[in-house]
Amino acid sequence: QRKRIVAGNWKMNGSLELINQFAETIKTDLYPNVEVIFFPPSPLLSAMAGKGFNTGAQTVSEHDAGAFTGEVEAKLVRELGCKYTLIGHSERRTLFAESDAVLVKKFAKAQQVGLTPILCVGETESQRDADATEQTIATQLNAIIDKLGVACLQNSVIAYEPVWAIGTGKTATPEQAQSVHKFIRDLIASKDAQIAATLPILYGGSVNDSNSELLFAQPDIDGGLIGGASLKPDAFSTICASA
Ligand code: 13P
Repeated sequence: QRKRIVAGNWKMNGSLELINQFAETIKTDLYPNVEVIFFPPSPLLSAMAGKGFNTGAQTVSEHDAGAFTGEVEAKLVRELGCKYTLIGHSERRTLFAESDAVLVKKFAKAQQVGLTPILCVGETESQRDADATEQTIATQLNAIIDKLGVACLQNSVIAYEPVWAIGTGKTATPEQAQSVHKFIRDLIASKDAQIAATLPILYGGSVNDSNSELLFAQPDIDGGLIGGASLKPDAFSTICASA
């Protein structure tokens, strides 16, 4: 039995006021079988965690504390009561040029300080059109596994987010998503079957309160990573309830 997870990635949105709205709508004990996690912008981490929500950072630095103006230290995120961090969201990869090599360091740093990394992988539309979906995802996963060893996935979560489905309203069909989730699980199982069997794999990309149920019903989809709909308390609670 794998953990069910619904994670809300607020991206560069949200406010103290929105945290208060969520605190009124989402009672954490409403979903006893689902781990609900919020990823607000870093200035809001403390306030979010302070409300008793499972909280994570959207990214962390690969460095230890030091002269890195504007960066967020992983150890500090942990100290604020956070348990998770996203690693390698497609917006970090493309808009902030984060390479697989840097993401390996961030992943390792997160685990070193006791944060659970949620590693994001996914293909662009042109990669899918070129039938390079599986190869793209294998490259992204193997970058981590080859450097850190498959055992590092023991304490992690994978999020499959096809880039073409992010913020576009064009969600993957449950069958398309399931097929990639199974590919990810099989790839990991070929190295360690026990880790693969227990690893939560989340789907992200235009998940909303009307398509989440069918997506989450797929055998290898263990929950979701939600962008836009995670800013709306009512829609987000419906999504949590559907997991
Ligand atoms: P949307 O749900 O807005 O498509 O965003 C998905 C995402 O990028 C979550 O990390």
